[in-house]
Amino acid sequence: MDKNKQAMVMKKVERTMQALAKNRIPAVYAPTSAEAVKVVESMMKEGDTISCGGTVTLRETGIRDLMQSGKYHFLDREAMDPEEVYAKTFAADVFLTSANAITEEGQLYNVDGRGNRVAALIYGPKKVIVVAGVNKIVRNVDEAILRVKTTAAPPNALRQDMGTPCQSLGACVGTKGEMCAGCSHEKRMCCHYVVTSWQKTERIHVVLVGEELGY
Ligand code: SF4
Repeated sequence: MDKNKQAMVMKKVERTMQALAKNRIPAVYAPTSAEAVKVVESMMKEGDTISCGGTVTLRETGIRDLMQSGKYHFLDREAMDPEEVYAKTFAADVFLTSANAITEEGQLYNVDGRGNRVAALIYGPKKVIVVAGVNKIVRNVDEAILRVKTTAAPPNALRQDMGTPCQSLGACVGTKGEMCAGCSHEKRMCCHYVVTSWQKTERIHVVLVGEELGY
């Protein structure tokens, strides 16, 4: 990344972190994935029961390796019955996930299929750690909606070979960002649209990573 682009990204990061703090969502910045692993490690205690949503970011940063290190009681849906994991996650000490977008106005935007990820984000686990690359920062919720429909969903559908319109067309059927437009495909990934704008207790924490991560 050249110097000018780097400076612009850092301004966006600062605006976003300030706005998140205003909305009672504490945020820290980690310049690299390696730093992000250390930050996340400092936010969890050995022996904690931990769980996570389906996310490419945790794998790319190396945070999933930390989760699997044996220091924690990891409810791993790749190694256990997923339904059992979803139920037990509500009583977990820590839930880790990414976000589909984070706005410069201090909101988290997430779109979910089953709903287990956004459910645990909203309620249940004592602490939630949201790890996201700087590529997830957008100006506002309208841009967040558009980001999912044009940037996040198509490669995600392709990765899982969902056969949805966003896979075959390269963007959602509603490319203008309309909230209600979507497909009628049986494998539709977008069922629950959640904007997190404020929290009453400081349960959700954000780690912004200075790299492009996930979708
Ligand atoms: S609503 Fe359907 S086509 Fe649109 S992004 Fe979601 S899965 Fe893809």
